[in-house]
Amino acid sequence: MNEIRCPACGETEELLGESDAEGAITITCESCEAVFRRGIRRCERCGTDDLYDAPVAVVEKSRGSQLSIVSTVTREFCWVCDRDLIDAQRRSRRPLMPDELPTT
Ligand SMILES: [Zn+2]
Ligand SMILES: [Zn+2]
Repeated sequence: MNEIRCPACGETEELLGESDAEGAITITCESCEAVFRRGIRRCERCGTDDLYDAPVAVVEKSRGSQLSIVSTVTREFCWVCDRDLIDAQRRSRRPLMPDELPTT
């Protein structure tokens, strides 16, 4: 676990953390009362914090049965669990396809 440090005064002990719905922690420094947020970037499967942001296609079904990419979103992938996906994305330089494609 990385050490959490107040960005304002450098305090590492007197910190009050509260996790929120987005999975980030809101931390209040009891020494200088600065409030800051710390995101938790951690793989749900293996627990590593070694993550990679990769673009994922947002796909919509257009006329006929053609799927077209309407935009991309950034998603976190794990260097341990998603190694193949990350390698493929970096090689192709194209967004990854989403897990679920629209079927109707
Ligand atoms: Zn502080
Ligand atoms: Zn993982």
